[in-house]
Amino acid sequence: MSGVLGSVPTELVGKVVTPDDKRYSRVRSTYTVIGSPAVVVLPESAPDVAAALRFAQERNLQVAVRSGGHGLAGSGTNDGGLVIDLRAMNRVGVVDRRSRLVRVEAGARWAQVAQALAPHGLAISSGDHGNVGVGGIATGGGVGWMVRKYGLTVDHVRAVEVVLADGTIMRADAENEPDLLWVMRGAGAGSGVATAFEIDAMELREVGYAQLVTSVDPAGGTLRRWADIMAGAPRELSTELRLASQGDGSTMAVITAVVTSDTSSVIRKVLEPLFKVGDVLGQQAHVVPYPELVSPMHLHENTGQMPARTTNGLLTEMSAGAARALVRASAGRDPLMVQMRSLGGATHDPEPSATAFAHRHQNVLVIGAAFPPNVRNTLRTGWAPVAPYMDGAYINFESAPTKDTFARFYPGPTGDRVLELQRRYDPDGILHPRPTA
Ligand SMILES: Cc1cc2nc3c(=O)[nH]c(=O)nc-3n(C[C@H](O)[C@H](O)[C@H](O)COP(=O)(O)OP(=O)(O)OC[C@H]3O[C@@H](n4cnc5c(N)ncnc54)[C@H](O)[C@@H]3O)c2cc1C
Repeated sequence: MSGVLGSVPTELVGKVVTPDDKRYSRVRSTYTVIGSPAVVVLPESAPDVAAALRFAQERNLQVAVRSGGHGLAGSGTNDGGLVIDLRAMNRVGVVDRRSRLVRVEAGARWAQVAQALAPHGLAISSGDHGNVGVGGIATGGGVGWMVRKYGLTVDHVRAVEVVLADGTIMRADAENEPDLLWVMRGAGAGSGVATAFEIDAMELREVGYAQLVTSVDPAGGTLRRWADIMAGAPRELSTELRLASQGDGSTMAVITAVVTSDTSSVIRKVLEPLFKVGDVLGQQAHVVPYPELVSPMHLHENTGQMPARTTNGLLTEMSAGAARALVRASAGRDPLMVQMRSLGGATHDPEPSATAFAHRHQNVLVIGAAFPPNVRNTLRTGWAPVAPYMDGAYINFESAPTKDTFARFYPGPTGDRVLELQRRYDPDGILHPRPTA
């Protein structure tokens, strides 16, 4: 490499991709954004990450951090800056089978993690997609298929290996650097570059998996029943509900349920109340190995192929008004894609102050997404009637983070502590432009 970027530091030789490199088209973009970085660095170790950060600062290049490239804000790339793409740091290993402690590098995808842990009879509740990166989920939250049974991914992170903005390499756990561990579990984006995580995995091989389709009452009755059923459900049941506009003003719901049991009679019993959610038109249930839910078939290159815009909020109560507004948002002339994820169960166990993910009383994560051509308007107008019902938000499903959304991600004292720690660990704001006062 030559020209404006100058020569490459010795440790990064062969790990740097510039626009004249034939690999560039495969590394420039994320899932939602086509980027034009001046340079993409593919580190193989924490010292490589430190070298990449020094290289960027010496040349005054904006830094983007990328693990799986599925971030909805597209902050895993940029135009004219330097991208640290952790894809080569993707090892997954069992540290201690008896205590179920595993070490996972940040650039692994969750499909790779599930594949690597399955032979040991272990799994980690992460997200619903195998191509999402470990780094984004394990620093942001992690609302997985088994969230009510096991809580968030960050709740199981015991230690994080981090490179700070100034290149310092740290290991944060409960005894050493507890502040860094705290901020990396929920507000890791902008606090440091996580290179690996030690995580308590779950003893799990197979789960019950069911899908059912039901018509949706425009007055909100179906959504209220779903929320009531989930409030009374055992932790073994987690569900995702997608509203699907039928184009004629009516709406259907597709509900995906995961039961953390491999015993048919238990699965049937746990699912039974869910079949009373409405006028069920179709259903199926199977016992499947967990890796099928975050399948290697999900793995793909990210080329900016999904220029959608997404926002989200958390619901404490599915009131009549909230349920009606959600059905309307998904059924209008320019409908939003509305997806809801059941929370509660183990997500309520930790104290709100235990991690930087403070939302420990809400019961539903609501995600709204708009697709081209009219993404901004559709999202703004579709979400506006729903927004007043929301009680906080989750950073990982937001396409346009701002000062206002920061206050929803990190309410009150949590936000104050996140800002204080981000100022401590990254005083110059190299990793993330922070909201200004
Ligand atoms: C199809 C799809 C399905 C999804 N399903 C779920 C789901 O079921 N549950 C859920 O909780 N979320 C889900 N998400 C949202 C997901 O949590 C976020 O998009 C997450 O940020 C993606 O992680 P990534 O590593 O792939 O992202 P990237 O684009 O690589 O990173 C996004 C941002 O996260 C930060 N970051 C990434 N890696 C690191 C690191 N190693 N150290 C420090 N900061 C880092 C950086 O700020 C980065 O810019 C989904 C997203 C998509 C697109």
